[in-house]
Amino acid sequence: MNAARPVLAIVGASYAGAQLAASARDLGFEGRILMIGEEPHPPYQRPPLSKGLLTGKTGAEQLSLKSAEFYAQNSIEMQLGTRARAIDVAARRLTLANGEAIDYDWLALATGARCRKAGLPGEDLQGVFHLRTLDDALQLAAATAQARRACVIGGGFIGLEVASALRSRQLEVTVIEAQPRLLARSFPPDMSVFIEAAQRRRGCDFRLGRAVRALHGAQGRIAAVELDDGERIECDLVVFGIGVLPNAELAQAAGLAVDNGVLTDAHGRSSVPGILAIGDVANMALHPVPGGPARARLESIQAANDGARAAAAVIAGGEPAAPTVPWFWSDQADLKFQMTGLPMAGDQTVLRGEMESERFSLFYLRDGALVASHSVNKPAEHMQSRKLIAARARPRPEQLRDPSFDLKGALSAS
Ligand code: FAD
Repeated sequence: MNAARPVLAIVGASYAGAQLAASARDLGFEGRILMIGEEPHPPYQRPPLSKGLLTGKTGAEQLSLKSAEFYAQNSIEMQLGTRARAIDVAARRLTLANGEAIDYDWLALATGARCRKAGLPGEDLQGVFHLRTLDDALQLAAATAQARRACVIGGGFIGLEVASALRSRQLEVTVIEAQPRLLARSFPPDMSVFIEAAQRRRGCDFRLGRAVRALHGAQGRIAAVELDDGERIECDLVVFGIGVLPNAELAQAAGLAVDNGVLTDAHGRSSVPGILAIGDVANMALHPVPGGPARARLESIQAANDGARAAAAVIAGGEPAAPTVPWFWSDQADLKFQMTGLPMAGDQTVLRGEMESERFSLFYLRDGALVASHSVNKPAEHMQSRKLIAARARPRPEQLRDPSFDLKGALSAS
């Protein structure tokens, strides 16, 4: 224990880590704050890696999360290019890969997630990419400039964003998805149909319900993708977007409770006193919503930032922040998807607007209460939904369905 000046060690220098450091200072934590990050870069924005950085609209120099002055002024130390290797829970000591030991009072695990690998023959050929880091994205962007024909494996958000970005660079793009429909984990069938049609209109081709059997190369470079029905798709670029795995091994080896991420309460506290987990690595207890899930590992900027703020309140002794409604966005060409709440199978769905117009919202009601919405090119309706869900509003389906009904009215009624 560092009695004179407590030490907060943060493993992972990205959204959750940087926000925790900033919020702990904001709330008056006066101890030493040290962020340890495996990547060589200071915390940067990840969403543009599958969007503006690939289309060329955003440069790498625009991605910093906070300025160097911010870290200096707030006495937030960073050790980058360094991996944390082990935690000695009893001694409250973190060991780094370079052998250095840090005695902590508080330890926050903000280690995020890494790309899942398919384990397929040919996955290590040149021209085959997994996208998680800035370095991955820079290599992919450079390869895109030389490529003509791409296969994107995985029809989730990242896969579809990459497909859109590659289309905007005039590549021919085929998206291969093992499920019979796109975004099956997040969206109901009619939304999947909408997205497929919208992406086809923008020139993407699809193979749905098809698994990849192998990747074939020529002189060490990707040349074709072979599907489970024997079809071969010639290509010179492959991008995988088949989900992520939480970087929870450090926690698991130290004996923390882990199950699809580090198990925490709603404030980020793990099963071991003094150790918190936040962001993509945390499988966090959720503030109860009737009929909703008890916990989730939410992979979003908002969850990383809100989780960090809650954890900062634990460390600095401030008021825990009020629970917020989860939200997430995805930009695909000129389609802006904004999602809020956590819909479940069995929720009643109400459509406002016409899907064909590419401007609509789909609302989800559970026992009469609004619990989630998915908006396409309707940012105001998304913002109103967040407020309505937080207020546990019970708008009537016919009100939601009626584009002339002002959603603010439902808020004041609640
Ligand atoms: P991460 O950002 O994953 O950072 C964890 C850091 O910890 C990494 O730098 C890692 O190298 C480091 N680390 C891991 N283990 C160790 C160790 N042992 N020692 C030291 N360092 C370690 N979210 C949205 O809300 N909207 C979007 O549009 C969106 N688009 C995305 C697009 C892409 C291409 C990607 C990859 C993600 C996107 N996300 C989006 C998700 C979002 O980026 C993540 O939810 C967010 O980055 C999580 O932040 P984090 O700090 O928990 O973890």
